[in-house]
Amino acid sequence: MFGKILIANRGEIACRVIRTARRMGISTVAVHSEADARALHVRMADEAVEIGPPPSAQSYLDADAVIAAARGTGAEAIHPGYGFLAENASFVEAVNAAGITFIGPPAAAIAAMGDKIESKRLAARAGVSTVPGHDGEVQGAGQAGEIATRIGYPVMLKASAGGGGKGMRIAHSEADIAEAFRAASSEARSSFGDERVLIEKYIEEPRHIEIQVLADSHGNVIHLGERECSIQRRHQKVIEEAPSPALDAGIRARMGAEAVALARAVGYVSAGTVEFIMERERHFYFLEMNTRLQVEHPVTEMITGLDLVEAMIRVAVGEPLTLTQDAVKLFGWAMEARVYAEDPRRGFMPSIGRLTCYREPPAEAAVRVDSGVYEGGEIGIHYDPLIAKAVTWGESRAAAAAAMGAALDGFEIRGVDHNISFLGAVMAHPRFLEGRLSTDFIAEEFPDGFNGAAPGRAEAVRLAAVAAVIHRRVVGREAAISGQLAGHEAVPGTVWVVRADTEDYPVVLRELGSEFEATVEGGAHRIESDWRPGATLFEGTLDGASLRVQVDRVGPGYTLFHGGVEFGALVLTPRAGALAALMPVKAPPDTSKFLLSPMPGLLLSVAVQKGQEVKAGEELAVVEAMKMENVLRAARDGTVAALHAGPGDSLAADQAILEFE
Ligand code: ADP
Repeated sequence: MFGKILIANRGEIACRVIRTARRMGISTVAVHSEADARALHVRMADEAVEIGPPPSAQSYLDADAVIAAARGTGAEAIHPGYGFLAENASFVEAVNAAGITFIGPPAAAIAAMGDKIESKRLAARAGVSTVPGHDGEVQGAGQAGEIATRIGYPVMLKASAGGGGKGMRIAHSEADIAEAFRAASSEARSSFGDERVLIEKYIEEPRHIEIQVLADSHGNVIHLGERECSIQRRHQKVIEEAPSPALDAGIRARMGAEAVALARAVGYVSAGTVEFIMERERHFYFLEMNTRLQVEHPVTEMITGLDLVEAMIRVAVGEPLTLTQDAVKLFGWAMEARVYAEDPRRGFMPSIGRLTCYREPPAEAAVRVDSGVYEGGEIGIHYDPLIAKAVTWGESRAAAAAAMGAALDGFEIRGVDHNISFLGAVMAHPRFLEGRLSTDFIAEEFPDGFNGAAPGRAEAVRLAAVAAVIHRRVVGREAAISGQLAGHEAVPGTVWVVRADTEDYPVVLRELGSEFEATVEGGAHRIESDWRPGATLFEGTLDGASLRVQVDRVGPGYTLFHGGVEFGALVLTPRAGALAALMPVKAPPDTSKFLLSPMPGLLLSVAVQKGQEVKAGEELAVVEAMKMENVLRAARDGTVAALHAGPGDSLAADQAILEFE
């Protein structure tokens, strides 16, 4: 066994690999950029080496610096995690040339699977079904049109060197084909430096289903069943589960056999994933093979009881697999939700800042949280905004989803925007619970983005009752102030009006020892919780069922978050409620004279000067965020009155860049 390994990654995956290595008695070396000197993975590892400035290209992607760190610390092997150098064949060759073991597949397998045209050919030769289309590179818009007419619209054009959903375009008819070809190949060139594009049939209402394979260096290859990852936003996975509600034992066995055949055909070693796309009639086709550990691997671990990182390490040492295909058993159901620092209300724009509060849901047997952050730590602009992965297990799909809902409700995250409410809304969505998934789920069910799900009537009543209890505790504490005139002590009332949106819910509260009985709309509810003013998590029971609600105090009111629902509540005495109805509504400030940064980022350039007249559509400034340059243009004609920021400035979301007269 190795004595020491280096983890060439950051964030949750670096922490996750370190955890397994530690359990196996292996010491660990973390590498980090200047920005990550205080990151969790650095704190967790036995040793840490700084490898460069914040941008990944100069640190986590710097193969020489990573290998030098391994040499300098005497690490015998390198685990790449996912992303960064994980699927870089020349990195693997350089690692091996330095006499260090790469904990992953051979360079040749990575190279063979890294190109979509090549891997599709290889898969077809190995007897794996591939999406009907044209074998090879498309030679131009004209040829794309001919092939599309032959295979039938809609078609998909994809960058052969693509990944991460980039360089993909759909053409629904002859009218779109030339533009789709042009866009796919230009994005392929700019993102991957390789403009080759392939064309295939666009599978409608597809499900994304992938098979986890595991191979050793002795020719043993097994599969560990499937994961379904159909809940995607712009071709990026958001929620994954295992097994898939769409598979039965027969399809699983066939898909598994094809995945194993492909792994054998490329001489695969280590853990890998063969991705398939499945159509309504349950025909499935090979998409690509990911030659690394996947983000969503924990769901497979939850239902098989295996530790895939341990398996990768053992295989890298040269141990044969001890598990045979027949011995692989799948237990129950697992779900994973990716918790991102992003703002669903702004088109899921990444959010940055300090985690002023970060507490994970209480540890329970059926809940696993993989994270790479801590309270007080910072989410920066340089890296992936993944905060944590919540993983839950249940005996059935419904139980796993319910456990996920409870886990999400228990996450206390403040200081950055996050997608917990959105994830909670998907988990509670009837179509999701029925298992009617497709990669279009989010686009179809949330066509206008996400602004907090509206509560159903029963849910609103329950949340109104909770809001009343919360407010009663706040007022109760205020009323307990010392030094009150005897006989004139403040006494909190029992009758309240909870105003949510424009709706009023009269609530009568009775205190029964440590419990409250809340009567709303004729129904009585028992609520028990030891919530204290200031706490962001309300945990307790409602009519005997456990309940977790996030609580934010907003001015005189509260915002409650539960199961994807956001419930803004103002709790008033009946008299205040009657008077509040007469209050004028505060108008939001007028920001139309300002050019505001739509996202946190770096101001690259300002194209105008003070006093300059601009026409609608003219470029005003360029903001770089998440490696993308965003050109901000004038919405209408005007004159620049003042500049509030200059090139090189870091911008917060909504920060004013300039002002018009
Ligand atoms: P990448 O390497 O960029 O992740 P993939 O080939 O794995 O690209 O595809 C990513 C996603 O794009 C899939 O999960 C699926 O949602 C969609 N997709 C890819 N190919 C097709 C196709 N032929 N028809 C329909 N959807 C597709």
